[in-house]
Amino acid sequence: IFPGSTDAAGQRATLGVLGGGQLGRMFVHAAQRLGYFTAVLEPDAQSPAGLVSHHHIQTRYDDPAGLAQLAQLCQAITTEFENVPAQALQTLALTCPVAPGAAVVGIAQDRIEEKAHFTAGSDLSGVACAPYAVIETPAQLQAIQNDRDDLLPGILKTARMGYDGKGQVRVKTAAELAAAWAELGSVACVLEKMLPLMAECSVLVARGWDGQAVSYAPQRNVHVDGILAVTHAYEGNMPPTLATRARNAAVSLAQQLGYVGVLCVEFFVVEGDDEHGDLVVNEMAPRPHNSGHYTLDACNVSQFDLQVHAMAGLPLPLPRQHSPAIMLNLLGEVWFDGNGQRREPDWHAVLSLPGTHLHLYGKAEARAGRKMGHLTITGPDVASVKTTARRAAGLLG
Ligand code: ADP
Ligand code: MG
Repeated sequence: IFPGSTDAAGQRATLGVLGGGQLGRMFVHAAQRLGYFTAVLEPDAQSPAGLVSHHHIQTRYDDPAGLAQLAQLCQAITTEFENVPAQALQTLALTCPVAPGAAVVGIAQDRIEEKAHFTAGSDLSGVACAPYAVIETPAQLQAIQNDRDDLLPGILKTARMGYDGKGQVRVKTAAELAAAWAELGSVACVLEKMLPLMAECSVLVARGWDGQAVSYAPQRNVHVDGILAVTHAYEGNMPPTLATRARNAAVSLAQQLGYVGVLCVEFFVVEGDDEHGDLVVNEMAPRPHNSGHYTLDACNVSQFDLQVHAMAGLPLPLPRQHSPAIMLNLLGEVWFDGNGQRREPDWHAVLSLPGTHLHLYGKAEARAGRKMGHLTITGPDVASVKTTARRAAGLLG
């Protein structure tokens, strides 16, 4: 699909996205920079992506008329939100190339299917997932007693619709587990052993229709209350042997899935025999990822550029990071002072620091835990980036 082209009927080359959040917004920006027209399907009238797109189809994700309009407008369609109904992608795929496909999005949407995939058919360079049990029935719940130290203490996670630590309860005993399952509505869940984490990291892979795959070096992620807070992206951010294994595992996963588009694979580094720890695969996201936002400012191509290239069948450039970077997420809390009073962050002071790149997503209302934007700090060396990140965090704290 050639950027900037117009077909015989006068229709401009248009790329579409299901979902109107910040990931969709940054996708739209990347597509438009290449000269594509864009279309966003999103029910919210004031969404980050809908506000900046040429076309905004304002319907539910599963609305047949909205989906038909999207497919009619677009030469290729992607998603920015893994909880978009996989069925919608399947419907679109009848008339329009869709990447990633409904089947793989379906796997990523369901922790039970995802974990089965991590465990069974795949050799992820010897990287396993955490010990877990599926809990879909009272009998499966009752089968787990206090002696199960392979599962307890653990984290009970809903199989579907979880994100940013939502739909998760930490449990120490079988009684707490039973209470937690009730609290989560007795829906399908997985109980996962609580692992002694030394660190967390993620890997971004892009794969094209022709099977060509490229990847970024792993970034190290710090979560607070289940939400990504900081991403460290520079040489030496993690032990090189683990970094290589994580990257290989993510690329093999994309290959095995026959994935097209950008895939993010999250890993834990857990205490183990090796002093650097062992690698455990956590979950995957069938789209660009918050932990890859630094690629916008620190790399020759961003994860959103690669998403556009992959879906449109353009060659995939080899990603190269030109600057060390730290990304700070800007959650709604930043817009409130210590007394809970609404305030505007001091952007003048933040932007006076060297190498700061501000990205705000156009969300009007700041709420606790809501991702409002992010700040990437780049610089000539890791030490100066760390210093600036500390100062920026101090100004935003
Ligand atoms: P989400 O879909 O909300 O990102 P995750 O499964 O990635 O869900 O969990 C969110 C965070 O909770 C992880 O990044 C990690 O910090 C913590 N966590 C999740 N599972 C485990 C585990 N088995 N052991 C220890 N910490 C965990
Ligand atoms: Mg996660």
